[in-house]
Amino acid sequence: MSGRTRVVVVGADAAGMSAAHQAMRTAERTGRHLDVTVLDRGRHTSYSACGIPFWMAGDVASGDDLVARTAEQHRQAGIDLRLGTEVVGVSLDERTVATAAGEEIGYDELVVATGAPAVVPSWALRPDGTPYDGVGPVKTLDDGSAWLDRFAEAGDGAHVVVVGAGYVGIEAAEAALRRGLGVTVLTRGRGLALLEDEMSERVALALRAAGAEVVLDAEVTGLDVDGDRVTGVRWGDERRDADLVVVAIGVRPATGFLAGTGLPLSRVGALRPDGHGRVADGVWAAGDCCEVRRRIDDSWVFRPLGTHANKHGRALGDSLAGGTLEFPGVVDTSITRFAACDQYLEIARTGLTLAEASAGSFDPVCLTTEGTTASGYMPEADPVAIWVVADRTTRRLLGVQVVGGRGAGKRVDVAAGVLWRCGTVDDLARLDLAYAPPFSAAWDVVQIAARRVAERL
Ligand SMILES: Cc1cc2nc3c(=O)[nH]c(=O)nc-3n(C[C@H](O)[C@H](O)[C@H](O)COP(=O)(O)OP(=O)(O)OC[C@H]3O[C@@H](n4cnc5c(N)ncnc54)[C@H](O)[C@@H]3O)c2cc1C
Repeated sequence: MSGRTRVVVVGADAAGMSAAHQAMRTAERTGRHLDVTVLDRGRHTSYSACGIPFWMAGDVASGDDLVARTAEQHRQAGIDLRLGTEVVGVSLDERTVATAAGEEIGYDELVVATGAPAVVPSWALRPDGTPYDGVGPVKTLDDGSAWLDRFAEAGDGAHVVVVGAGYVGIEAAEAALRRGLGVTVLTRGRGLALLEDEMSERVALALRAAGAEVVLDAEVTGLDVDGDRVTGVRWGDERRDADLVVVAIGVRPATGFLAGTGLPLSRVGALRPDGHGRVADGVWAAGDCCEVRRRIDDSWVFRPLGTHANKHGRALGDSLAGGTLEFPGVVDTSITRFAACDQYLEIARTGLTLAEASAGSFDPVCLTTEGTTASGYMPEADPVAIWVVADRTTRRLLGVQVVGGRGAGKRVDVAAGVLWRCGTVDDLARLDLAYAPPFSAAWDVVQIAARRVAERL
């Protein structure tokens, strides 16, 4: 490569800005000359969407605290950052992107980092396509700010219906409860997505103990409205009054602007880049607009998480500028917590669910073990339940889920390490883990859980 390379990044958040900065750092090392332009249709850049529910709950004072790097800081680093610039089309032959304002911008290397906006179904929308008053997702800083206003205006006795019991739904329910609002959580399945039902039930118990209503198998069919304002939510033969409705039913990759390029998309509309972020000649992608490779069963999965977006974006930026960094895939690890009204629960998982393990080439055996987060005689000791699944034939550890009190959740990281190395359930049971009474029993509960499964294989 000689001369200057024009890099155009579409999307200025976790994946896009990680890629842009890493590309510039690596280019210094490799002696390449990059002109990096980043386009984003929004007003914000490099913020932690992950922190928005905690801002809504009152743990974070201001939305500004969630901004890791301002637009000005990016520009000072030499990036031509253009906010309020939506890309509506791409020509791979011409190597140009077209913006909503009618501009054509040429590139040598294109980075797609457009993320995955929240799904807002038609029942939540007015005829003009905008959500009814009091209804919205939790996705962007603007959403967070709108929810703070709505919570404040709603006042005492107001009722919030949260549609969806994934991580965002649970965190939104926590925020509403901690703001003193009544809460109903509706979920169309048997519980928290990505958890086994029996682990999910433990989360539902905590939500109920905190005063929330949790309704399983509730597929929302419509809203009741008074003019533009929501007044209720309907599903099956049932309804609840609602002053506010949080729509937390998932996200969908923002890849519509690639229509006509011939770039292959998965069933959910995601790109499938390799570990370096390559999609096609001169086209790269990372973050929520992509699926990631799950190492355990070597399958593609759509896991829109910031932890992947940052790591994959960095590998992409390095590779684009001549480096060799690679994003090595995931073992499907994630975590959240529910803390409201004297309830505190950490919720985490890694690896496969029983259904995923059964669908693959495994012969899964699973078991739930109950224990405590510290030695039983210590005041810190909180209940914890650990679900473990392993393969009968190979003894390979396949998955671990954790629901419990303070200190429970990050235990999943130990299991993630074993999964990463394709270790067995015996490896997990025998690891040299730190022990002192405030932190665990002499046998940590995750090891007891692994040992019990090992004994059944
Ligand atoms: C409430 C909430 C809580 C979360 N909590 C966690 C957590 O605890 N842990 C975790 O790992 N992850 C969490 N996530 C997920 C995490 O925030 C995302 O995975 C991460 O932001 C993805 O980064 P990204 O850069 O791929 O996409 P995004 O952050 O969505 O950025 C994409 C950018 O592209 C822009 N864009 C899209 N289309 C166009 C276009 N056509 N033209 C120009 N610009 C465009 C958008 O405006 C946006 O700024 C959470 C997300 C939410 C919403």
